[in-house]
Amino acid sequence: HRPHARKQIINPDFKLEDLGIGGLDAEFQDIFRRAFNSRILPPEIAEKLDYKHCKGLLLFGPPGTGKTLIARKLSKMLNGREPKIVNGPEMLSKYVGASEENIRNLFKDAEAEYKQKGEDSDLHVIIFDELDSVFKQRGSGKSDGTGVGDNVVNQLLSKMDGVDQLNNILVIGMTNRLDLIDTALLRPGRFEIQIEISLPDEKGRKDILLIHTVKLRENNLLTGDVNFDELSALTKNFTGAELEGLCNSAKSFSISRHVKSGSIAQIDPKSIENLKITRNDFLLALGEVKPAFGTDEEDLT
Ligand code: ATP
Repeated sequence: HRPHARKQIINPDFKLEDLGIGGLDAEFQDIFRRAFNSRILPPEIAEKLDYKHCKGLLLFGPPGTGKTLIARKLSKMLNGREPKIVNGPEMLSKYVGASEENIRNLFKDAEAEYKQKGEDSDLHVIIFDELDSVFKQRGSGKSDGTGVGDNVVNQLLSKMDGVDQLNNILVIGMTNRLDLIDTALLRPGRFEIQIEISLPDEKGRKDILLIHTVKLRENNLLTGDVNFDELSALTKNFTGAELEGLCNSAKSFSISRHVKSGSIAQIDPKSIENLKITRNDFLLALGEVKPAFGTDEEDLT
């Protein structure tokens, strides 16, 4: 029998450039093609194609590159509810049995809604952050002395397999270490789509710097010598989070010029009116904020 016309799950007003994510257009488009194309098709066509929905998506890459940001924005642009975000280590509650219960609870609302509304149900996004902290424990049995790790994995696997019967759940996993993830999790029907979120290239860094200086630019708080091409060239190996840190550091240098002399905690109210962030503030910031990953030898630009 034909499925109902599915409600539109993706906000039609959504535009990539409004997301506030820099340097990840290609990754975002990949995510869309692989995880959402099945969901924007008219149901009759999806049925003819026998096109199965993606149930699990794994984002991997270094810390601070925007994985959480992507997962958050993805769920925001869906007409579904707020995502449920679960942190791996938190999941490993020390009370035996509690973690499995937590996992069951995560899927409960979505299951109940699907029972009631079927294909008209909202899309529920469930996010597992730091997936490796739970999943590397499989087989070790008792890394925290409680034996909870394996049970949690088994519970999640059985839940993900059960999602096959439900069309209203997308599980997004995140990890810094793909190599630590149990391969059983990467099978079809589980985290079957894996997308790498890597360090931004020079163009990406410029986009990210522009995103994190939107307010400064709107309020005309940058001096004319601040050059974003120069800054993106000088920030090789920086992650998005580090670029955001760089902007904050530049602000702090600028503000410190307006602290009353002889004081560390008093702003001079007259002088602060002239607050501007200069190229030199960014250069000072570059002396302070350093990238955690990569070396100068590798050419990542
Ligand atoms: P972790 O693996 O440590 O969880 P992550 O990849 O999930 O890291 P986020 O938490 O998404 O990283 O990034 C931290 C912050 O850095 C974001 O909230 C955002 O402000 C900034 N940021 C990171 N990447 C980008 C990006 N591509 N564009 C704009 N801002 C970014």
